[in-house]
Amino acid sequence: MSSPHPHHPALAATDPELAELVGAEERLQAETLRLIPSENYVSQAVLEASGTVLQNKYSEGYPGKRYYEGQQVIDQVERLAADRARELFGVEHANVQPYSGSPANLAVYLAFLKPGDTVLGMSLPMGGHLTHGWGVSATGSWFRGVQYGVRRDTGRVDLDQVRELALAERPKLIFCGGTAVPRTIDFPAFAGIAQEVGAVLVADIAHIAGLVAGGAHPSPVGHADVISTTTHKTLRGPRGAMLMSTAEHAKAIDRAVFPGLQGGPHNQTTAAIAVALKEASGPDFRKYAADVVANAKALGEELAGRGFELVSGGTDNHLLLIDLTGKGVAGKPAAKALDRAGIVVNYNTVPYDPRKPFDPSGIRIGTPSLTSRGVPVSAMGQVAEWIDRVVGAVAVGEAQTEAEVGKVRAEVAELMAAWPAPGLAR
Ligand SMILES: *Cc1c(COP(=O)(O)O)cnc(C)c1O
Repeated sequence: MSSPHPHHPALAATDPELAELVGAEERLQAETLRLIPSENYVSQAVLEASGTVLQNKYSEGYPGKRYYEGQQVIDQVERLAADRARELFGVEHANVQPYSGSPANLAVYLAFLKPGDTVLGMSLPMGGHLTHGWGVSATGSWFRGVQYGVRRDTGRVDLDQVRELALAERPKLIFCGGTAVPRTIDFPAFAGIAQEVGAVLVADIAHIAGLVAGGAHPSPVGHADVISTTTHKTLRGPRGAMLMSTAEHAKAIDRAVFPGLQGGPHNQTTAAIAVALKEASGPDFRKYAADVVANAKALGEELAGRGFELVSGGTDNHLLLIDLTGKGVAGKPAAKALDRAGIVVNYNTVPYDPRKPFDPSGIRIGTPSLTSRGVPVSAMGQVAEWIDRVVGAVAVGEAQTEAEVGKVRAEVAELMAAWPAPGLAR
């Protein structure tokens, strides 16, 4: 644990304490089975681009219209990223400056709404995101958030409810997409409802952008007025975000991001986004996207076969939402035991959860990270077995859990050693 990191010699010399922490995180990411659906492993090329001297530049404004001189190179970097985004997603306009998904969404509100105006989004406990008008978020306190959910019988988005709420509440903005939605988003249906009430439709594809780019989920292009996405989830780029739109809304979006909400863009991130978009346009990425979904479907079937209850009965994308009620275990103790076993998941509310958000009934798991390591679909039975063993032990008691956690952790480390992660020093 104490040897300085061989790949960050300057960091190790200047700040050994921090270098050691980076090394420890690298080992953690190498040795554990990471099943957080919003996480991934970026490539070495993306890592390198995000650690460049582009970091040193201020460039408020947009290419060709900056408030600073010295933009000969930065303008080209940002144009490259935006051009690649437009090409990859087939959109008329792309803004690559938002710092992350939440500020990107706030920029959409700023572009189209006044404080107090109504937004219709999916509620957080049903699988939506905080920024879709949930109360504790600025988007739910500065605007009037009206929230839809999923049907109790199917676990799928209740489009009848969406339409009823839209007609009754007349929102100016409708968000579709979410953070714990295991099924295909029906963009045409949302577009029909938005059109009926004259609302701007925002497709928030933060989770599924990589699947959309890789052809493993339908595209919102042609249906949504605005597309919001992070760049660091399935898209496998640096931590950042993009807003894409029709030409009609380009000016409003750009003005909302800068000067509306932000100052200088993070140019090292813009560069890394450009690299990730280049990677995402290649044939390997289409295979990755298809494999992410194939792995999630297989893992879901293996878990269902072991008596796990999947919200909506399965998945169409990269994530599974699992209700552990039938296993006699709550989400949090299960997630904590799995973490000790080297399997990283998050505890999560399930629709109509009778338990509290900080101690909910479910866990959420996803396959992007293990797919980026190349772990094949044939290993999903093994992964499901580990989850079953740990959750089963938690249901029995503490001693049983500790014994099982130790055994599973060793087996997990062995599989992970066979499938080294991209971008990690070994
Ligand atoms: C992750 C996510 C965001 C927010 O992204 P951050 O980069 O964490 O701010 C917004 N919307 C959805 C649907 C997300 O999943």
